[in-house]
Amino acid sequence: MEPWSLGVDIGGTKVALACVNAKGRILAKMKYPTRPQQSKEAIFEILIQSLKDLCAQMEGSPVSVGVGIAGQIIEKTGLLTVAPNLPSLNNFPIQQKLQEALKLPTFVLNDVKAATWGEWWHGAGKGHRDFVSLFIGTGIGGAIVSGGQMLTGQNNCAGEIGHMIIQMNGPGCTCGNRGCLEALASGWAIARQAHAAIQRAPEEGEAILKLAAGETVTAQHVVEAARKGDPLAMDLVDKAIQAIVTGSIGLVHVLNPARLIIGGGLGAALPGLLERVSEEVSRSALPAARESFGVVGAYLGEEAGVIGAADFALTHWQGRGDDVAQVGP
Ligand SMILES: [Zn+2]
Repeated sequence: MEPWSLGVDIGGTKVALACVNAKGRILAKMKYPTRPQQSKEAIFEILIQSLKDLCAQMEGSPVSVGVGIAGQIIEKTGLLTVAPNLPSLNNFPIQQKLQEALKLPTFVLNDVKAATWGEWWHGAGKGHRDFVSLFIGTGIGGAIVSGGQMLTGQNNCAGEIGHMIIQMNGPGCTCGNRGCLEALASGWAIARQAHAAIQRAPEEGEAILKLAAGETVTAQHVVEAARKGDPLAMDLVDKAIQAIVTGSIGLVHVLNPARLIIGGGLGAALPGLLERVSEEVSRSALPAARESFGVVGAYLGEEAGVIGAADFALTHWQGRGDDVAQVGP
């Protein structure tokens, strides 16, 4: 049997696990809800048991394990220093603990980098050595592949595109700054702007409130109302798209990517987003930077994380890791 790896994607609402082969194909998978209130021991025990249960469905054993998780990870040791969705895992040596429990080489990386790795080798980034990914959901994450390498920066923190400042003195962000891309165009930012607009002029928010049907207004309600032609919702969506366009032009100038890959639930839902970014980059970016540039949607959807984490682990298990730049996709 061909070698295969375990991929783990630990998100804010669910933990997804999969057995993935070198072609990026999922051979078996399962998922369960994330329980942030649990202790680190309980979270870890359930993860190990679930991985063992999943492996029991397979012939043979995995060669390695890859884990994508939201937060800050020390690259060399796989120590998880900050895990915003699972605070009980702060300062948890997740890579070492998994390696000890499963007796397999284990690799831990940021969840957005895992999804980007998946898109690189098995999705929308296939064949490219220079691209930027932008995942727009409740928050905004990104990663950069440049010259055939996924950039880490000195502290494994490169690619925090959501916290790139787009508007000086703009609205406040979760990071403490003002005018970040995330504070202008993420799910939580669109919902916040909708709430504020509806408070100012309740009659203008009727269509959005009707869709929310008594629940708290979310970005999904705003997008749905915009698709139906509601003026307030269209204006909110337009402002979010304009912020993404501005950020994209900056990224094109700084990194000269061949592709911008846009993923995430909201990235796929914002009406006309890909076309607008593509048109405005063609119009505004420096000619040399925009030549052969294209905007594409992510291919792998929700499975990008597990596929990417598993493929990252398989690649590094094979010892190709540092040669990626030379090998290329
Ligand atoms: Zn920020």
